[in-house]
Amino acid sequence: MPDTAQPHYDILIRGGTLVDGTGAPRRAADLAIRGQRIVAVGDLAAAGAELVIDASGKVVAPGFIDSHTHDDRYLIVDPAMPAKLSQGVTTVVTGNCGLSQAPWIPGKRTEVPAPINLLSTDAADFPFATFRAYLENLERHPAAVNAACLVGHTSLRAAAMDDLDRPANDAEIAHMQDLLREAMQAGAIGLSTGTAYPTAMPATTEELMGVAQVLREYGGIYASHIRDEADHIFAALDEAFAVGAAGQAPVLVSHHKLIGPKNHGRSVQTLAHIAAAAERQPVRLDAYPYVAGSTILRKDRLAVSSRVIVTKSAPLPQYAGWDLDKIAEDMGVTPEEAVDALQPAGAIYFIMDERDVERILAYPGTMIGSDGMPHDPAPHPRLWGTFPRVLGYYCREMQLFTLEEAVHKMTGMTAGYFGLPGRGVLKPDNYADVVVFDPATIADTATWSSPTRQAQGIDCVLVNGAMAWRDGQSTGSRTGSVVRPRQPA
Ligand code: ZN
Repeated sequence: MPDTAQPHYDILIRGGTLVDGTGAPRRAADLAIRGQRIVAVGDLAAAGAELVIDASGKVVAPGFIDSHTHDDRYLIVDPAMPAKLSQGVTTVVTGNCGLSQAPWIPGKRTEVPAPINLLSTDAADFPFATFRAYLENLERHPAAVNAACLVGHTSLRAAAMDDLDRPANDAEIAHMQDLLREAMQAGAIGLSTGTAYPTAMPATTEELMGVAQVLREYGGIYASHIRDEADHIFAALDEAFAVGAAGQAPVLVSHHKLIGPKNHGRSVQTLAHIAAAAERQPVRLDAYPYVAGSTILRKDRLAVSSRVIVTKSAPLPQYAGWDLDKIAEDMGVTPEEAVDALQPAGAIYFIMDERDVERILAYPGTMIGSDGMPHDPAPHPRLWGTFPRVLGYYCREMQLFTLEEAVHKMTGMTAGYFGLPGRGVLKPDNYADVVVFDPATIADTATWSSPTRQAQGIDCVLVNGAMAWRDGQSTGSRTGSVVRPRQPA
């Protein structure tokens, strides 16, 4: 006979060390789940459950929130999301750097302009004319992780303009505002821009401010891949602050970094500049834990990179994973000529200094975002390694921050800044997005030469109360939801 005095739960995670995502000190606590939600946290030794998970010796933390992804289409074409679940990620923020899956006006373009082509080079892969259609499709066909979706300014340009190599006129800005309004009403969490890319470079600060003004009505975030991460970074940061202010929006400086040897070490100054701005308006950063970046293959990066690895090439796919110098040698051409021959293509660039990376990761306003490229055949290892690398290498080995701080940077801070209700902190009534991992062994194993190797030390991952990953593999569960933002007060 069951003892009805003892509470009975769906899932009980027992005996673990709870790191709750707020940054508060770890504590011994059990965690109980019923349906999609956490219902109790504490000493639950007397309770029973359909499934009891023994977490002794392990850390129980909120599922990680990847604040910076290009997973817009990965959610659709590979809904098991192994690159993310295997790291303990339960929510991805999509639509970064100005590019989003929607809106895309059918028939308007036969070619997908860069950098939107990081998602796909085939226009047929963009079937969503409205942002609502994209989000509804995600809800009809759920992925294994949750999605919180930004709208990309470059995608708005591609929808509202014919010719992308000039600033938008007033009518086009008004059109982009309408498209952004539609997206925000449908449940987008904000706007991203990527004025470092040729198709958005001609956009003036006034254009960006004009579009961002719509955010005032909805309270969304402004995520900026700033115009210049090299010699002119201060002007680029100031532009991002101005655009955020125009939209009365919290500013997120994407993948903060200093490009090129002559800018190495300048994070001392940029972080001071960002901290000063943060006294006047909300400003935070995201960063990934590597000294190399990755994006489309472009010639202007060659001179500032100590090494370039090609991640994909549409016409010459056999070169994915090769160093550009080797490709040039193999083809008998210069590296610049090889870049032309490989287009459209993606690449990894060794452009940063390790001390800048550490300083930026340790900055109290930095959250963790992978910026992984899920469609690259030979991707940057950040796609599979970011979160375990922060917890293993930078936290446990380098002691750059405490475990509580590291977890906060990938959970509670992110959910709080983006305004994602019920996420990022382990407490009753919140959604049961949970990761159980071994703090002594968690580590990334993806490398430059083997970039899709699964991380180690992740025991299990729950998404909205369902077991999504266990014993190193997907359970086949697809319980991810579209995370809509908290309404402004
Ligand atoms: Zn970017």
